[in-house]
Amino acid sequence: MELVKFLKDVEELLGRENVISEGHGLSAFRRDWWSILMLKEMLGHDIDAPPAVIRPGSIDEVINVVRLANKYGVCLAPYGGGSSVVGGAYHNGCVVVDMRRLSRILEFNEEDLTLTVEAGAKVVDVERWLNERGYTLDYHPQSFQLLTIGGAIAHGGTGSHSMSNIDELVLSLDVVLPNGELVTVGPGRLVRASWPDLRGLFMGSDGAFGIIVRAMLRVRPLASYYVDLAYVFKDLERAVRFARDLVINVPGPHRVVIHDKESGRLMVGEDGVIA
Ligand SMILES: Cc1cc2nc3c(=O)[nH]c(=O)nc-3n(C[C@H](O)[C@H](O)[C@H](O)COP(=O)(O)OP(=O)(O)OC[C@H]3O[C@@H](n4cnc5c(N)ncnc54)[C@H](O)[C@@H]3O)c2cc1C
Repeated sequence: MELVKFLKDVEELLGRENVISEGHGLSAFRRDWWSILMLKEMLGHDIDAPPAVIRPGSIDEVINVVRLANKYGVCLAPYGGGSSVVGGAYHNGCVVVDMRRLSRILEFNEEDLTLTVEAGAKVVDVERWLNERGYTLDYHPQSFQLLTIGGAIAHGGTGSHSMSNIDELVLSLDVVLPNGELVTVGPGRLVRASWPDLRGLFMGSDGAFGIIVRAMLRVRPLASYYVDLAYVFKDLERAVRFARDLVINVPGPHRVVIHDKESGRLMVGEDGVIA
């Protein structure tokens, strides 16, 4: 691995300010939210910082960074919001590619209800932008304030407080493959693919098959009203049965979240209707 030569070439490509190879800037990327690493840190163990962090600002820059990584035999770890709870964004000795400079909203098509956005955009910022215009992704994982569009897709996230999981929103993806080739997968505005649909290869891949740089997402108008109901059930079986009957018998969209006693107390308090 010829790290020094790689970083020199990357500096020329991205500018010195977008290559961090020493100091405090590195330590912010030493871990994600993986509980094992957080515990280690709490117990006073050192967690190595990555060898470097690089910050591409365009799709062409990502392509060229990946090509240079091939040339010099350097491994790369994409990093979005760093909120992975399974160590997905942990560098493990690789150079971190911080995606957050790629955060532009590229196209909003109000007629087709599609939004094309760069992968490093934070979900909270995209949602705010849409809300101001009367639309929503309705994608609210508990890490809503932290995660990026690319990280959500790479992780295959579920919107635990919303109507949508990420796979229901992604119409197409642009991915820089490990050889530096840029590919587009998914039907885009055609909505339904009539050919092998490769989106699933990248959704939930944790970045193993390429760096997601752009996505076209489905949006919907903000609902004019929501109804929130909370019930307390005697056991899990009854709660699941209720959820099943609700989804079958009441027209959607629905969001059903089943909490255990502890998280239920936190989320909705103890009072409720005993079913
Ligand atoms: C408090 C908390 C609550 C959470 N709640 C939920 C929840 O309700 N639902 C849920 O699904 N998850 C939840 N998570 C997990 C986490 O938020 C998700 O895994 C999220 O999708 C990660 O997005 P990120 O942008 O932070 O990605 P990161 O953590 O930076 O990266 C996640 C993975 O994706 C890869 N990656 C990042 N960006 C790209 C890219 N552009 N191209 C290719 N690969 C990339 C990384 O290498 C890594 O493998 C929670 C996490 C926390 C800390």
